Amino acid sequence: MAPSKSRIKVAVIGAGAAGLCAGRHLIAEPNQFQFDIYEQQDDVGGTWRYSTHIGQDQYGLPVHSSMYKNLRTNLPKEVMAYPGFPFEESEGRSFLHHTEVLKYLQDYAKHYGLYEYIKFHKLIENIRPLKQEDGSVEWAVSFRDVVTKEKETYIYDAVMVCNGHYSVPYMPEIEGLNDFKVARAVGGASSVLYLTNLLELNLLLSERGMPKLFVSN
Ligand SMILES: Cc1cc2nc3c(=O)[nH]c(=O)nc-3n(C[C@H](O)[C@H](O)[C@H](O)COP(=O)(O)OP(=O)(O)OC[C@H]3O[C@@H](n4cnc5c(N)ncnc54)[C@H](O)[C@@H]3O)c2cc1C
Repeated sequence: MAPSKSRIKVAVIGAGAAGLCAGRHLIAEPNQFQFDIYEQQDDVGGTWRYSTHIGQDQYGLPVHSSMYKNLRTNLPKEVMAYPGFPFEESEGRSFLHHTEVLKYLQDYAKHYGLYEYIKFHKLIENIRPLKQEDGSVEWAVSFRDVVTKEKETYIYDAVMVCNGHYSVPYMPEIEGLNDFKVARAVGGASSVLYLTNLLELNLLLSERGMPKLFVSN
């Protein structure tokens, strides 16, 4: 993107539902804004990008998504859509599978031409205010490419933080929990395991050097 002094330079962090919506409105005012969207993953969708990884993804980042394999929405699609961009009809069903929500978000990004503005695999590591002589503030946005590990810093006039808020697991304090090592070592807190049989679970345990199988429900 060619830098232009007259336009406001905006960094959007995250290409989930919120970051895409921010991008869609920034792109609607091309004379006013130029922008980049930074996304640590390799596609849009945020938490709707279900992952089979446990704990960390292939780049060593904490798994962002909190989806589980068979999750359906707990809101009807009629109230989940962006204004002016309805969900496709799905045989009259309102409570969609998570894969349909992901496709909807991908379609939204394509429809509004957002993909070319998204810098994938870029993990924002730091945002620093830079006070200018005239009292205004610019923002130094530092990021790391999760594949090449290269680090860079770009300067923006404004930052929109759309990094989601359902990726940090909550573990309740329960007496004896630390002794229940299967939950900690196999599932971690952010993943729901979907295993089709006990053999699969045993294999997973042995891969992680855990000789015993505890089953709880
Ligand atoms: C299990 C579950 C079920 C849900 N069900 C529903 C439902 O039925 N209906 C509904 O309307 N809502 C539901 N929600 C709410 C859901 O959070 C919202 O629908 C929506 O996905 C939130 O979008 P977001 O953009 O705020 O966050 P996210 O979808 O979490 O996206 C944040 C993005 O920011 C990226 N990111 C984060 N940190 C960085 C960084 N440092 N550098 C670069 N990129 C970064 C992430 O990779 C991610 O792509 C559900 C949430 C969960 C967890």
